[in-house]
Amino acid sequence: MLRIAIGGLSTESCTFSPLPTRLTDFTLNRGEVFLNRYPFLSEFDAEFVPLLWARALPGGSIEAETYQQIKDELLQLLRDHAPFDGVYLDMHGASNVQGMDDAEGDLIAAIRAVVGDQCLISASFDLHGNISRREVENLDMLTAFRTAPHVDVVETRHKAVSMLMHCLKTGIRPLRAWLQVPLVLPGEKTSTEWEPGKGAYAAVAESDHIPGVLDASLLVGYVWADEPRASATVIVTGTDAEAITHEAARIAQRYWDVRAEFDFGVRAGSIDECIEWALAAPESTVFISDSGDNPTAGGVGDTPLVLGRLLAHGVQSAVVASIADQAAVALCQTAGIGADVELSLGGKLDSLNSKPLLIHGRVLNVVPSQNTEIVVQVEGVKVIVTERRRPYHFIADFQRLGVEPLQHKIVVVKIGYLEPDLKRAAPLALLALSPGAVDQAIERIHYRRIQRPVYPLDKDMIWKPTPLVLTR
Ligand SMILES: [Zn+2]
Repeated sequence: MLRIAIGGLSTESCTFSPLPTRLTDFTLNRGEVFLNRYPFLSEFDAEFVPLLWARALPGGSIEAETYQQIKDELLQLLRDHAPFDGVYLDMHGASNVQGMDDAEGDLIAAIRAVVGDQCLISASFDLHGNISRREVENLDMLTAFRTAPHVDVVETRHKAVSMLMHCLKTGIRPLRAWLQVPLVLPGEKTSTEWEPGKGAYAAVAESDHIPGVLDASLLVGYVWADEPRASATVIVTGTDAEAITHEAARIAQRYWDVRAEFDFGVRAGSIDECIEWALAAPESTVFISDSGDNPTAGGVGDTPLVLGRLLAHGVQSAVVASIADQAAVALCQTAGIGADVELSLGGKLDSLNSKPLLIHGRVLNVVPSQNTEIVVQVEGVKVIVTERRRPYHFIADFQRLGVEPLQHKIVVVKIGYLEPDLKRAAPLALLALSPGAVDQAIERIHYRRIQRPVYPLDKDMIWKPTPLVLTR
């Protein structure tokens, strides 16, 4: 019976965030506990050996020692449980390690060195990964999501495993055509739910019917990583060098051709513009994305900029979810429900983009947990304060705290595009181009190390796709 190891590293590292990702930020899933990510394994005639899958909420660059520890453990587990016929790596693709470029390239090359050349390695990636030549050289095959928001997560993992099984059973040793497309476009503009992202990904799926192609992947990349590999990439895996080269060039050219058409899926403007538009809107509730401080993209989650502007506008009915501030939570918890408090709120982590906001408020609710949440009424605004940054992606996340978002005129969420549950509930959504570590206004970002020229920083650049066929 074929033996397949499963492991991986999954996080997204914003090099503009001052908050390093430490070992305590990772969930280290060892052995059977992460097998539920792959509900399809029983359909394959193989023994799957789950080793280590390390995951962290997107944040700043991973501390070097933390990465080394995770890498060492994964490599040791591979040695301890050897031999393997195949390895499946469940990756994100946008990790950054302090003092190191191309973290996944380093990890995958090290795994290759341990398992040797005969073992086949397959990987799946988030389409927000930045995929280097070194990664593709050390893998045998790979695939990536084709939807954003990601609704083909399990399907993609399944594809990576079934491709691996197919190649192992038939003796196929695939080739990969890889190329970078010099585009840095944020995920909020490249959703596959609207054009031109939708059409770009429909064009990827056309390759599925081409003889000699096993997989075609287009990754829009992760733009808040200032390292040379940050860009879009196209990788086509298959058995026919000519076919995969042709398809990779076709997908890349198709994506490049529509570069100027990418835009936010909802009306976007400055914080003040969004507040004014919301107040003037006939809709009973307007959701505003505080997109520059989105923790699920790597934002620090504590900037009080939008709250400050809501108060300046004298908004009478709003909710802000959320501001991370451990000291403020402790103070409110001690003061208790109903107490009046004075807080120097948020703005402590990302000094480049914000500073603390002095507020007077009343504690409405305290919900103790591993990440205690407080609701504070500040004039017309209910502010959710948490010990550590966390996302609010569901209406139930608010209701749990005794807050009914739809009973307020404005609901501010630290997020990019609205996640499906909020999107369904929101009568109207706006995207605030708020300053922060994950600034959506790419032209405002001070890049130092990405490859130039790149669009849209170098608007007039000329480019032609030239895929490289990589073998081992
Ligand atoms: Zn993603």
